[in-house]
Amino acid sequence: MTEPDQPGSNPYAIQTRAVRDGDEWVINGHKWFASNARRAHFAIVMCRTEAEDGEGGVRDRMTQIVVPTDNPGFNLVRSVPVWGHEEGDHGEIILDNVRVPLENQLGSRGSGHQAAQDRLGAGRVFHCMNCIGSMWRAFDMMVKRSIEREVHGGKLETKQFIQGFIADSYMDIQAARLMTIRTAELLDKGLDARTDISAIKVFVPAAMERVVDRSIQVHGALGVTSETPLEGMYRAARTLRLADGPDEVHRILIAKNVLKRYHMGESWDFGV
Ligand SMILES: Cc1cc2nc3c(=O)[nH]c(=O)nc-3n(C[C@H](O)[C@H](O)[C@H](O)COP(=O)(O)OP(=O)(O)OC[C@H]3O[C@@H](n4cnc5c(N)ncnc54)[C@H](O)[C@@H]3O)c2cc1C
Repeated sequence: MTEPDQPGSNPYAIQTRAVRDGDEWVINGHKWFASNARRAHFAIVMCRTEAEDGEGGVRDRMTQIVVPTDNPGFNLVRSVPVWGHEEGDHGEIILDNVRVPLENQLGSRGSGHQAAQDRLGAGRVFHCMNCIGSMWRAFDMMVKRSIEREVHGGKLETKQFIQGFIADSYMDIQAARLMTIRTAELLDKGLDARTDISAIKVFVPAAMERVVDRSIQVHGALGVTSETPLEGMYRAARTLRLADGPDEVHRILIAKNVLKRYHMGESWDFGV
């Protein structure tokens, strides 16, 4: 989906275009941050296929099209380095008159946004589940280190600053965990989970960032070396505040959904 010259936080801004020519789609565009591009046999490309003044609304202008990565015109220009990893796997891709059969279209014309939302919703819950596993591990490491490490005449565990880290991390992990479980339950029941998905997408990576940050602090200089998994966890948590939609966009969605309810004369039901 994401393009270097358009705001990825606004999926309606996508400019990659697919034009029908006989029984083929012809695609032109420029993408980046296509994760796992180097290893992929095909890409799912979000393309603008419908006219601006066509039927339907702004949500109905895009279609997802499957493009084999060995297709002539599919140019993987480079992998964009992330956090100093030159060999990262987030591809920048130029689509230059790529031709694929019409049957490579996923779903109906104009259904691209809906398809993306359907997939990304569950994907965000999975990201949060991974975050909880990571922050739990960072917590284990922090508590164990505080029991073992002696500073200024006492174990770290006896210092109130460190006890505060442990207590705050406990609350972060448990809140993140319960919010994620509730969201997964809503999805399982086929209920509208959009507000809760946005809420965990903001809360959980930020909670992970805080927990990992405290664990790094307790480990001292060791915490920022590559000899523990903490520095990788820290980068992952920070990155997740951007990937799959930045925090601000999800906060806007939460507020929009809540306000809509109150404008309808109702209040928000947080559940029992
Ligand atoms: C590691 C990684 C992997 C990724 N993998 C993929 C992938 O596989 N496929 C894919 O398509 N994309 C992928 N992305 C891209 C990601 O989804 C986009 O980076 C993200 O949607 C933000 O788009 P942008 O970078 O263009 O930022 P922009 O849209 O330019 O936004 C910049 C900043 O502006 C602020 N902002 C935006 N809108 C508002 C607003 N309404 N109000 C206030 N502030 C606002 C936010 O702080 C935001 O971070 C990946 C990104 C990363 C970092």
